[in-house]
Amino acid sequence: MSVAENLAKVRDRVRAACQASGRNADEVTLIAVSKTRSIEEIRKAYDLGQRHFGESRLQDALPKIESLPNDIVWHFIGPLQSNKAKKIAGVFDVVHAFCNEGQLKEANKSARPITGFIEVNIANEPQKSGLAINQLDEFYSEAIQYEYVRFRGLMTIGPVVSNAEEMRPYFRELGSQAKRLGLEWLSMGMSEDFEVAVQEGASHIRVGTAIFGSRQ
Ligand SMILES: *Cc1c(COP(=O)(O)O)cnc(C)c1O
Repeated sequence: MSVAENLAKVRDRVRAACQASGRNADEVTLIAVSKTRSIEEIRKAYDLGQRHFGESRLQDALPKIESLPNDIVWHFIGPLQSNKAKKIAGVFDVVHAFCNEGQLKEANKSARPITGFIEVNIANEPQKSGLAINQLDEFYSEAIQYEYVRFRGLMTIGPVVSNAEEMRPYFRELGSQAKRLGLEWLSMGMSEDFEVAVQEGASHIRVGTAIFGSRQ
């Protein structure tokens, strides 16, 4: 299947999930996760109208950001190392995985306004990054003091499950936490479960494999 066919299919599925849950399709931003993909592959998706792309490593992303059109919105979705956060905030528009103050301090130093998500470890998995729910309030009240990072939502990766339906309670919980904090956006849902995420209120879905095929 070509990127064109895959992208059309993903867009149709997003529309259907929106329709099934009484949402407008324009409430959902599809981020094409382009980590490991070449500039040519990204260009193909761009030519099909795709404008939001997600990368998880600064070094891999830099040549792509430099050589592709500048109306692309670049999302940093990967684990955020503090020592790279300043550079990342200097080139990405949206950073999805803030979960400690060191990252914030560094990102703020780039003095370039970006949008931030707070990463939540929604299933309390010991090996995963992200904040526990009971750490959210304290972090958020610190986070809003940094002038160059504007926090608009919560993000989660979530556990590996065998059936997308199993993600529903986690997505729902992320939504109610965002609501409680007064945050409007939710970055959740990947190739295997984005429809459930859309039904549960995702504003941003991060889809790689279903668009570009499986990664090596
Ligand atoms: C790789 C990645 C994705 C995309 O995963 P797919 O299963 O290929 O859709 C989404 N979110 C994050 C944080 C990722 O690292």
